Amino acid sequence: MRDLGAKNGHQHVVIIGAGPAGLTAAYELLKHDIATTVLEKDPKYVGGLARTVEHKGYRFDIGGHRFFSKNQEVEDLWTEILGSEMLTRKRLSRIYYRGRYFAYPIKAANALWNLGPIEAVRCMASYAYARVRPIRNPRSLEDWVRNQFGWRLFSIFFKTYTEKVWGISTKELSADWAAQRIKSLDLWLVLKSALMPRRRPTNRSDVVTTLIDRFRYPRFGPGQMWERVAEIRRKKGRPVLHGRTVDRIEHDGGRVRSVVTRTASGEIEEHQGSDFISSMPIRELVSRLDPAPPESVRRAAESLSYRDFISVAVMIDRADVFPDNWIYIHDPTVKVGRIQNFKNWSPDMVPDQSKTCLGLEYFCFEGDGLWTATDDALVERARNELAQLGICKPEEVFDGVVVRQAKAYPVYDDVYQAKVDVIRDYIREHLTNLHLAGRNGMHKYNNQDHSMMTALLVARNIATAGSVDPWKVNADAVYHEEVRVGEKDLSARQVPERLAGSAL
Ligand SMILES: Cc1cc2nc3c(=O)[nH]c(=O)nc-3n(C[C@H](O)[C@H](O)[C@H](O)COP(=O)(O)OP(=O)(O)OC[C@H]3O[C@@H](n4cnc5c(N)ncnc54)[C@H](O)[C@@H]3O)c2cc1C
Repeated sequence: MRDLGAKNGHQHVVIIGAGPAGLTAAYELLKHDIATTVLEKDPKYVGGLARTVEHKGYRFDIGGHRFFSKNQEVEDLWTEILGSEMLTRKRLSRIYYRGRYFAYPIKAANALWNLGPIEAVRCMASYAYARVRPIRNPRSLEDWVRNQFGWRLFSIFFKTYTEKVWGISTKELSADWAAQRIKSLDLWLVLKSALMPRRRPTNRSDVVTTLIDRFRYPRFGPGQMWERVAEIRRKKGRPVLHGRTVDRIEHDGGRVRSVVTRTASGEIEEHQGSDFISSMPIRELVSRLDPAPPESVRRAAESLSYRDFISVAVMIDRADVFPDNWIYIHDPTVKVGRIQNFKNWSPDMVPDQSKTCLGLEYFCFEGDGLWTATDDALVERARNELAQLGICKPEEVFDGVVVRQAKAYPVYDDVYQAKVDVIRDYIREHLTNLHLAGRNGMHKYNNQDHSMMTALLVARNIATAGSVDPWKVNADAVYHEEVRVGEKDLSARQVPERLAGSAL
């Protein structure tokens, strides 16, 4: 076993994970002249969920990553790291449903127009019925949205996509989530918006909405940001240690002493430090503690769940396939949930401008039928679904590659918060030099900016013996990716919660 890391008396921080959180902490600690070791299980990539995968010169994200933050410090940090390599891109994203493209965010007049006169009349009738005969005390998302919009609009614009993303029936998702975030349908406003031209943005919410029309994006994808940080470290003689999976976190006397990693070839290393930052999923972190924590903590960690994700990148022999950055696929006849067109994020994502690279996103659970399908079967599915949606012909797809991403989304069920609190309190009290940061690292539905902010605070606490609470970051964060209909409340968390008592 090799012993790497801190010598007695020196401050040396061991960081688990080279995603946005881990590398932001490392970058900040570099500014404070504090030595760090970054351990990453991936043999090749940095960036974690925000990495950019490369296949024969085609680059693609694990889900398209917009760089957008209300936090100026994070925006400035992105500029500091990548400078002019940060592009500002215009956003176009629409919803595909039964052969039609609907504006997103949804505009009721546009939706009714697109549905055609017969379906529009049906939707209005179903809306009228829901208003006259509302479900009393709606508990589920399904009941609440049906009350506001009528069953038909609900089933077109809410049901299929929400169920694809979360893998849970809308009957089992809590109504509170929808009630806080979705505007009700006001027929007078629908008519007014159809007849009157758009006014200029005047209030804060409009300004934020306008900002979402544009976003920043690195020329070579989000991974470029983290590749640059890794490069800065490498030049300082501190390369990210790839292929190191954390096996054991050894502690005694209320402090973590070392992290033991294992490489693919079975080589074991021990990394000692004065402080430890973890951005690995909490569930795994707790299971690696040695000695093991009390049963209540282990059980809390085991109860945390995740939604997993598959991205199938396909290369198409055509220059222009569709103009959007991405399209939401509400159509229930296919399994794909979203399709990214990476060339529209940045032209440099493809090596040849006469070709296109699309990323078909499938939401799944680790071990289910999609997850365990072979790569060939998934590429074939992607090819067939693209043809079925009329996006391209099967023979235009000349290559495809599959990326499986476990734990892409921390699930917010009705018990997760209490469980996370148990783990957080245990670590605070019993492992005082272990600091949690990031998305799965804190089981928080963070975008990059908030993952980075938690890491910045943790790093500064270590460097300056500060005590700012990173758990306060993101208490009322915005997750633009999931802002759906109407975008009423842009300052609220956009994650649905399960109804108490319903099983996952
Ligand atoms: C589909 C999708 C779309 C998204 N879109 C956006 C977007 O548009 N804009 C945006 O800002 N954010 C977006 N996000 C969120 C963003 O990806 C995350 O907030 C960010 O990557 C979290 O950073 P992190 O460092 O906390 O975690 P991660 O990115 O998960 O990094 C953790 C790192 O730890 C490593 N690790 C895990 N376990 C171990 C172990 N046992 N040993 C060693 N290393 C380990 C992992 O390999 C990984 O590299 C999106 C996420 C998804 C899934």
